[in-house]
Amino acid sequence: MCLATLLWIIFACTRATNVGCKITTQGSAETVLLTGTILTSEGALHDSHILIQAGKIACVGKRCIPEAKTRKATFVHCTNSVISPGFINLHEHIDSSTINPLLDHGVKVNHRHDWRMGARGNERRETDINGSAIDAVKWGELRHIFSGTTSIVGGAMASGLTRNLDYVAGLEAGLHNPSSTWAVFPLDDANGVLRSRDCDYGPNATTSETAGRIYRYIAHVGEGVDAEAANEFQCLSSETYDVTPAPAGGGLSYDIIAPNIALVHALGLTEADFNLVAKRGAHVVWSPRSNVFLYGKTLNVTYLLEAGINVALGTDWLPSGSATMAREAVCALSVTKKSYERAIDSKTMWEMMTINAARAASFEEHIGSLVIGKLADIVIFSTSPSLSYYDPFARAIYAPEENVELVMRGGKVLVAGAGLEGLATGACESVAFGEVMKTICVEEELGASYVEFEKKLGGVYPAILSGVPPDEPSCEPTR
Ligand SMILES: [Zn+2]
Repeated sequence: MCLATLLWIIFACTRATNVGCKITTQGSAETVLLTGTILTSEGALHDSHILIQAGKIACVGKRCIPEAKTRKATFVHCTNSVISPGFINLHEHIDSSTINPLLDHGVKVNHRHDWRMGARGNERRETDINGSAIDAVKWGELRHIFSGTTSIVGGAMASGLTRNLDYVAGLEAGLHNPSSTWAVFPLDDANGVLRSRDCDYGPNATTSETAGRIYRYIAHVGEGVDAEAANEFQCLSSETYDVTPAPAGGGLSYDIIAPNIALVHALGLTEADFNLVAKRGAHVVWSPRSNVFLYGKTLNVTYLLEAGINVALGTDWLPSGSATMAREAVCALSVTKKSYERAIDSKTMWEMMTINAARAASFEEHIGSLVIGKLADIVIFSTSPSLSYYDPFARAIYAPEENVELVMRGGKVLVAGAGLEGLATGACESVAFGEVMKTICVEEELGASYVEFEKKLGGVYPAILSGVPPDEPSCEPTR
């Protein structure tokens, strides 16, 4: 055997065995020192520390050990693991979490009213909520927690579990008033009205005055690829586009594009439209898988990023989107390459899943990055011999769920992998994530154990998804 082969075997064995985290000193339950590779906007900090004290980040970097010792912290050492802020999913319809993904008929439509209302001769594909809405919301929040997401803007909420940035009552410990506003029909077009040359939508369309009063307005605009989708942006970005009222009320265009606006989907917008979005400091929420599955294409997000727009990633919903943020990131990377021959580096993608999302929802003072004073919303991802990524950011954002070693919201442990069971407090149970067991602590929030809750729901789409989720909607662009 040659020396190089021997060294490779030693290296491979070291990699295979030195995986994961372990508690090296069991100390205080509310003070924890994590050591590993920390992901920050300045880059990955190797062999560095995060000190968590009473739910917040008290120290970051190389000099946290003296303070941790003074505070009698529990010491956790992670080898080959990356420590990230919890992901923030800026777009979900979380009450659709017990519905299976839509079957792929291969048909792509041009506007959301085509599939949700059966407009223009298309098949209506919207599905009603399956069973109890609150159970569906809890189930959806569990699915996202298990894959490393700690905050969601999803149009419905459950107490505990993830933070719900669109509900004051759902912000959870450490976050306070005000919350974002989630909106599906800013033009009051729930009845399926389509316009292409004027703004004769419903009588209660959002005006610049009402939008100006909203703290953060995260609203669907231009979800489609046709003139009707493009028209929606015209009606929300100009005071002069339509100045003739509709007979039944409304009918005027307004200009609401401002830093408190995040446009969800924005698929019908032109480059000139995005230049205006950039100029005004508005945000965009990107859900590539759902765009591709329904309409055959998605945004050239590199254009938006280069124009200076703050872009956040969101999964949209289970029927046509991604089940987890990691699967959304996988789709985002692949479709950008296939459709636009452009790459998105892992750190940029990670920012779209963390700090950019916090900015779009205006919670960047408290969540979205690992800096002193922010809330301890933290996820740790192990590496695994099968994972081919060496970039620490890639190891976080594309990680299969089995690699999630710790999920913590405001210092409260929700998921703990092997070796970290000692961090779990309260009513916890052991469940299988594929071939590995994890400790999950969600009973207080569910009002039942996870196993009991799953049994009660009776065979709905799973919340634990190791590997590629079953029946995942296609991310292959067709136009
Ligand atoms: Zn949506």
